[in-house]
Amino acid sequence: MVNREKIRVLILDDDKFMLEYVNQLLKEVGITQVFLAENGKAGLQILSSETEPIDLLICDIEMPSMDGIEFLRNIANKKYRGKIVLFSGIDADLLKASERLAIVRGLNVIGALAKPINLDSLAAVLERVPLPFHEKMDFSSKKKRIFDVEEIRQALLENEMEVFFQPKVSVSSGKVTSVECLARWRHTKYGYISPDNFISIIEQDNDLINDFTRRILRKSVQQLEIWLQQSIDLKISVNISMENLDRLNLPEIYQEAVWDFNVPTDRVILEITEGKLGKDFAQTLDILTRIRLKGFGLSIDDFGTGYASMETLKYLPFTELKIDRIFVHNASEDFATRLILESSIKLGKAFGLNVVVEGVETQADYELVSGLECDEIQGYFVAKPMLPSDFIQWLSNFNNPNNVL
Ligand code: C2E
Ligand code: CA
Ligand code: CA
Repeated sequence: MVNREKIRVLILDDDKFMLEYVNQLLKEVGITQVFLAENGKAGLQILSSETEPIDLLICDIEMPSMDGIEFLRNIANKKYRGKIVLFSGIDADLLKASERLAIVRGLNVIGALAKPINLDSLAAVLERVPLPFHEKMDFSSKKKRIFDVEEIRQALLENEMEVFFQPKVSVSSGKVTSVECLARWRHTKYGYISPDNFISIIEQDNDLINDFTRRILRKSVQQLEIWLQQSIDLKISVNISMENLDRLNLPEIYQEAVWDFNVPTDRVILEITEGKLGKDFAQTLDILTRIRLKGFGLSIDDFGTGYASMETLKYLPFTELKIDRIFVHNASEDFATRLILESSIKLGKAFGLNVVVEGVETQADYELVSGLECDEIQGYFVAKPMLPSDFIQWLSNFNNPNNVL
């Protein structure tokens, strides 16, 4: 359970009454470290002067002088890493557009609430605040937020990069089909650090990202070999970066990494985020096609958030499509979101792809998604990413005949 006393919240609203009201609601759910700001300037001031990070920002959109959109633009430029809840009395479509804009700017929006908010809606959103691996890692803008390349290079040499495994479950059989391998940095000082805090830095150095991906692939395949020896029938999905596609012999490099273990390449799916595809189309197509020829599966990750969706589907040799979690969250309440989710699944199926829906967090998400045509689901509703020992424990509970998802 989350220790809410530790959560530090900033509320930004030009309406004094609203500030006090939300403050009161937060107290009722056990959050006591609350900062109040009546305008954007005061909000920025608090964010930059606090030495401890602000974990959650609750932000009004309509405000005089600096409105919520401008405020969010400012904090996105300053790389604010905490979570954000938007709340406003503006029209629902405007609120949605503001939320989308904030996400596009790279901000971590966990919800948008229409005013007046109440305890239930706030409490539901607050459930998403603390991510287990982040709690200590969201630095305020003043501190050095991010690691430098050298620290990461060192961590790689010291073998501090580990892999967590998150199951994917078949909708038709209810069985675990595969696991996604997700990198975690076991930092000597901060504990496990999530990849959002270091992957983009690694990606800036082509040799480093290649070294990193190869190591994560090797560790993941090594783990799969152990499971296969124990007759646990699984596939693995490993994330690769677009930056990895800078060398034409990549298929050979990955094939060799897998051949070092007793694992066939068709047990390994490589996931790439579609938003970044197509920098050098000929080279991308060359590498991806040859990766397939070696037997690997290829998955389009975060589908729906990139730009080249149709092109990607038409020309690139993918075997799987993973629909981004932003289309799952809220789909049961929001018609447009649901429409995108349904059409993406249909599109994927029409292209003969294995369609995975990720970010299935709640019973409602699950019920909605399992009624659609998708093949597999992944998300906190099934399980969070785990260390291998926890995964095995979880799997035996999950496979217990009394278990119903
Ligand atoms: P991704 O590939 O989209 O991976 C799924 C992310 O969503 C994971 O975050 C996972 O923990 C999280 N997640 C899973 N289920 C749920 C859910 O129900 N709700 C929510 N809100 N989130 C869920 P994680 O592990 O922090 O990884 C973040 C991203 O970092 C990954 O996004 C991937 O793009 C990147 N990444 C992770 N490992 C590697 C790696 O080895 N290499 C590369 N290049 N990128 C990696
Ligand atoms: Ca992925
Ligand atoms: Ca994804």
